[in-house]
Amino acid sequence: MTKSLLLAAPLAGWALPLVEVPDPVFAERMAGDGVAIDPTGSVLHAPCDGEILDMKGAQHAVTLRSPLGIDVLMHIGIDTVKLGGAGFVPLEAVGAKVEQGQPLLRFDLEHLARRAPSLVTPIVLASPGTILTRTIHRAVRVGDVLMEILEGEAQGASGEAFTEETRREFSVPFEHGLHVRPGALIAAALKPFSSQVTILFRGRSANARSTVGMMSLGVRCGDSVEVQAVGSDGERAIEALEALLAPAPRARASRPATKASGHRRIEAAIASRGLAVGRAVQWTRTEIAVAERGDGEQGEASALDRALATLRSHLESLQSQAQGERKALLAAHAELAEDPDLRSRAGEWLRRGKSAAFAWRQATRAVADGLAALDDPRMRERAADLRDLENQVLRVLAGKPPSSTREFEPGSILLADDVLPSQIISLDTERVVGVCTARGGPTSHVAILASATGLPMLVAGGASVLDIAEGTQVVLDAEHGWLDVEPPPADLAAAKQAMDERNDERTADLAAAGRPSVTRDGVAISVLANLGSLADAHLAMQRGAGGCGLLRTEFLYMDRREPPDEDEQAAEYQRIAAALGGKTLSIRTMDVGGDKPIPYLTLPREDNPALGMRGLRSSLWQPELLRSQVRAILRVQPAGQCKVLLPMVTDTEDLKAVRAIIDECAQSLGVPAPAVGAMVETPSSALLAEQLAPLCDFLSIGTNDLSQYALAIDRGHPELARRLDALHPAVLRLIALVAEAGREHGKSVSLCGALGSDVDALPILVGLGIHEVSATPAAIPRLKRTVRNLDARECRDLARQALEQSSAAEVRELALYARSRARAASTSEEETTSGGWP
Ligand code: PEP
Ligand code: MG
Repeated sequence: MTKSLLLAAPLAGWALPLVEVPDPVFAERMAGDGVAIDPTGSVLHAPCDGEILDMKGAQHAVTLRSPLGIDVLMHIGIDTVKLGGAGFVPLEAVGAKVEQGQPLLRFDLEHLARRAPSLVTPIVLASPGTILTRTIHRAVRVGDVLMEILEGEAQGASGEAFTEETRREFSVPFEHGLHVRPGALIAAALKPFSSQVTILFRGRSANARSTVGMMSLGVRCGDSVEVQAVGSDGERAIEALEALLAPAPRARASRPATKASGHRRIEAAIASRGLAVGRAVQWTRTEIAVAERGDGEQGEASALDRALATLRSHLESLQSQAQGERKALLAAHAELAEDPDLRSRAGEWLRRGKSAAFAWRQATRAVADGLAALDDPRMRERAADLRDLENQVLRVLAGKPPSSTREFEPGSILLADDVLPSQIISLDTERVVGVCTARGGPTSHVAILASATGLPMLVAGGASVLDIAEGTQVVLDAEHGWLDVEPPPADLAAAKQAMDERNDERTADLAAAGRPSVTRDGVAISVLANLGSLADAHLAMQRGAGGCGLLRTEFLYMDRREPPDEDEQAAEYQRIAAALGGKTLSIRTMDVGGDKPIPYLTLPREDNPALGMRGLRSSLWQPELLRSQVRAILRVQPAGQCKVLLPMVTDTEDLKAVRAIIDECAQSLGVPAPAVGAMVETPSSALLAEQLAPLCDFLSIGTNDLSQYALAIDRGHPELARRLDALHPAVLRLIALVAEAGREHGKSVSLCGALGSDVDALPILVGLGIHEVSATPAAIPRLKRTVRNLDARECRDLARQALEQSSAAEVRELALYARSRARAASTSEEETTSGGWP
């Protein structure tokens, strides 16, 4: 009878197939079949009981004869023979009889990492034997089962050798390539078979039973892959894949309208991260009927004033229970309800005999339409605020409560053309679990509110969002950016499980938010907050922010007709500084002008405002406003808590001109000059970062604008929203230049664009040398936990690979793969009681 034996992992680390070993002798199984481990531990243990047959002269490899008589060769690292034994300490001698788990050899990981091309350690059968099962593509601890082996060359049912190999080429038909769901389908199809099945693509390979492994290959729709099956039922295993994969030749497949599993998927932009499973509810906003003629000017005017007063007190009572963004939004609405300009515009219509509702609608729409026509997305959001206000006042005039109080069933996922901020605020998040809109933008006010309430939300999904029938089961995946319509039960179950895990994670992250964020190998990564108000500062502190990396001051004074004076600004900055409890506060000078007009700064009309007088250019055009802002910043106590951050720097000329103004302000106040940082958000400043770095105290990368200008995509463009991804390799190469310039000149480099809030991007950013991010407060706890699970050395490898990709989609795939590896590593760390991960 054929005997079998379990081989235990002799090292802690990441198990991978031999084909991934960077040495053809092992990758092509010339030295025997087996598995490799990328080690994190530094002691080699016996994988089974046996006798030490050989220990190479250079002590870099050990061969153990197992009880089956099969020899197991363990080769520490690649090309380590050249080290002549340096860095290795044998713990047993040739001829010793050892037990499974007994330490055999100690090696110096640091020493080897510096001198050998790779630490990957192949563990192969050096004499005839058959591998029945093997563990690959996951973290292993010492003693975990690594392989099950059979003595001799075992024979299959029909007498053929198990090592028989079948290969076939396929073209991948899945719309998004070999992604999670296609991967799961392939793995499920292979369940009945015992052969080892591998997908080969462009010189790389992955276990066809590992979704994560397959995803890491970056196979896209229409690509040709080779499938290799080793084992007696290999032929049948490959046949089973025929139903899923189309045979080559490989003319690029047309994009199927449905997923391979037959259900519909709608791609959309992520507005608020998260996952939700529920039933579709079409959420239409019914237009309120308005009579044009009024019943006399006086009566209509008092009806309008009463409605406005009712709305104000409603908003104030909501404000008293709210915090953060929600509170700020309610305050903004309450202010709009008091706006004298709007009221006087309505008064004009009332004088012409129109009804209160008609007059109010005309007044708000005139202003909202003007704002919506501007190129600036933030102004378009303010137009949405005004429409929201219109709606609320009309509801009150019609005798209804100000916001819609429609009752939703528990587990509702709301689908709409677009939504208003007040609609998001009014939602009962116990019942509504997600929102997806046909239009909208991922950086809108609505998106910020949804994030603040933790409500998963997708936007810009297109008109098909509105075709989904009420009650349809949907999975809203705002981690990847799609809505699955009527997915199969297996997908539903997987999504529910992922949701439960995410909820547990969120609770744990918040509890740990106060802990430092240091990588596993000891690199401190600061996680600061982006702020737009005092309320944000309070929220940021609750979320464990290490300070503020970006205060967008233009948000503080957008509605004003007069510029805020120096005293008023000093008082506001002081309040925010105090809320941060002495932690760094980087105050950005006003980033206005061009497409972001403010009433108190008259700038010339421009055809292409994104390329015109904005940021620093408008500040230098009217330097008095800049002077009063800099003086206000310099007055904040304690001195030194505030830094000055300059938006839209193009080159050193900009920087020198502003520094002169800042120095002059400091001198006149008799205080030391503050630390000054340049925002790198134009390709020009990224390319010239090495010239900018010596002239400033720190650099801060604004990836929102940097990607807009580098990729030539308007950041508010609704159709192109999904293509504007700052993980594009072109943007990453610019970030790498800036990080390099900072390193060379000893200046810190922070990143404050939305990419800094993206947990998937974080490992790549760390790998590029970014050691400080400034993020939306809600994202901070998860970012900090992500940092704690990273290894900066692995991040560097990842960043190198990311820079070589050719699209943002490919970088995202890579980032996703890294995330699953990090997750596996952290799980392994939690489970490990001794040895294992560092
Ligand atoms: C950026 O451009 O990335 C940035 C942080 O500035 P803002 O989004 O305010 O333009
Ligand atoms: Mg910017």
